[in-house]
Amino acid sequence: MPLIVQKFGGSSVADTQKILAAARKAIRAQQEGNQVVTVVSAMGDSTDDLIDLAKQISDNPPAREMDMLLSTGEQVSVALMAMAVHALGSKAVSMTGAQMGIETSSVHGKARINTIRSDRLKKALDAGNIVIAAGFQGIDENFNITTLGRGGSDTTAVALAAVLGADACEIYTDVDGVYTTDPRLLPEARRVKQISYDEMLELASLGAGVMHSRSIEFGKKFDVPIHVRSSFTDIPGTMIVAQGEAPNQAVCGATLVKNEARITILGLPDVPGSSFSVFSKIAAKNVTVDMIVQNVAADGRADISFTVVRDELAATLKAVEEAVAELGAEGFTSDENVSKASVVGLGMASQTGVAQRMFRSLADAGINIQMITTSEIKISVLVDREQGPAALRTVHQAFELQKPPANAVTEVSTASQSAHAIASPDAAADVVARLQNVQGMEDLTIDDIQLDDSQARLTISGVPDAPGIAAQVFEQIARDGIFVDMIVQSFGRNGKANLSLTVPRDALTKALTTAGELAKKFSCGPISSAPKVAKLSVSGIGMRSHTGVAIRMFRALAEAGINVEMINTSEVRVNVVVDGAKGAAGLAALQKAFADTVR
Ligand code: ADP
Ligand code: ASP
Ligand code: MG
Repeated sequence: MPLIVQKFGGSSVADTQKILAAARKAIRAQQEGNQVVTVVSAMGDSTDDLIDLAKQISDNPPAREMDMLLSTGEQVSVALMAMAVHALGSKAVSMTGAQMGIETSSVHGKARINTIRSDRLKKALDAGNIVIAAGFQGIDENFNITTLGRGGSDTTAVALAAVLGADACEIYTDVDGVYTTDPRLLPEARRVKQISYDEMLELASLGAGVMHSRSIEFGKKFDVPIHVRSSFTDIPGTMIVAQGEAPNQAVCGATLVKNEARITILGLPDVPGSSFSVFSKIAAKNVTVDMIVQNVAADGRADISFTVVRDELAATLKAVEEAVAELGAEGFTSDENVSKASVVGLGMASQTGVAQRMFRSLADAGINIQMITTSEIKISVLVDREQGPAALRTVHQAFELQKPPANAVTEVSTASQSAHAIASPDAAADVVARLQNVQGMEDLTIDDIQLDDSQARLTISGVPDAPGIAAQVFEQIARDGIFVDMIVQSFGRNGKANLSLTVPRDALTKALTTAGELAKKFSCGPISSAPKVAKLSVSGIGMRSHTGVAIRMFRALAEAGINVEMINTSEVRVNVVVDGAKGAAGLAALQKAFADTVR
């Protein structure tokens, strides 16, 4: 019999009428001939209310007790939902995470799912019940209740769909699909019919709150097609599958993270191991570092800037103070009034001029870019918090995201289309094998470690920190027909920034001429370049949510005596640029460091 997993978010079960409406949807799916598992979140804002209660007692409650408390929100809603199904004349049984056999790691508040022992769940389904599953929670090996992190019910739903081999996973929420950006921030945002796992993963991790990013990792890893749709209407929403809305689309969506903080460590000795040392100290405080930008060093010292969510600035600064003292850096600065705007799209990996279009639009809107980082499929800029909403609107308009792409797919995919599509028996066996063999379902999996030594680096130093300069640099380079891969703009000293980029080696001379002319025009500082650099990439699933990946790379390279010149990260990849002569040694060091995680 076909099986459907449905998930209702907090606003979709905010009161008893809504719970009854959700119960009707579950019953209808069962009457259509499906077995049904319904995952529910806590009612309305009740998780926030529970957090407030805890705060009234202590600023720093034990993490174990926090999970004990927060898990009650979902326990209330599963019980009420099961009662609603009964009241409407059908059979249901509610289950907590522990009762469903969702076994997790012991990191309270951020637990990861290791396994799901689905036998009890299957038994209840076979007995004709709709199973009402508590989202967001599990149990560790010592029977402690754990939670998966805010928004984690999405992850419960997709993980259940994966282990049960569900035919569909429907995420019912208060918006009728995934939009090109948060429709609450920009009314002109457009609902997309279909989006790829990689793009959704990147958007979710860059701030699109509609899906918990780890749920998309599950979807991708286990080929679960995810349908995001409205609880309040029956119109089809958005399918999250292997293929995007249009082939080769440069940008499919934009995001804004309003509350970020920037930290710059000044004059960090530029020796192998210094970044590793800084970031391992921060990781020890359980803080996730976001944009990382390192200036190419001058006089044996480099400035390194990064961002964290604003709430974690205080904890981060403690780690930074220690690092500055220990490593003999010159000092540090920080700014807690910054926002990060990003654009995402799979097609930008193969097109020129995408960065230029984004920077030009921001310049024309008078918005200064403080920092830039890119990956194959995203460009992020850091701007003053007051200009955040304007930056989002500007880039959304620049890529005409409000309009459907000209070459959009006409047939919306409702099934996974990836190479491992579960449709074939071999592929199905492969998924089962992967589920059984992995130690933990959410463990880091590395697909590939690569060396690309076909590029050169160019750095313009002393770029005036004013709107429009990045735009002109990239416009001119795009006009020259040069494909730019990595772009990094550091946070400058004394109102001056450094702008580094990598280009194909045979385009360096041309790029240097262009850069030279522009540097003169804008009175920038000297230009430096490296005719041969090596880009080392580690790609897989869970690259950013497993904060240890970048640290493991830094450590491996430091131990091999290799200095990191540039860094960029995405959800599916971490890239570093090192000296061209050290490429092979770096590759070997990384292969050794990640040997246990390569699948
Ligand atoms: P639920 O309680 O159902 O899990 P959430 O509040 O977690 O719902 O997610 C839905 C909200 O996500 C929407 O109301 C919307 O404001 C926000 N959102 C952010 N980015 C996007 C986007 N790109 N597309 C759709 N909704 C988005
Ligand atoms: N109730 C939890 C939260 O508010 C989990 C969820 O809604 O997904 O974060
Ligand atoms: Mg949610």
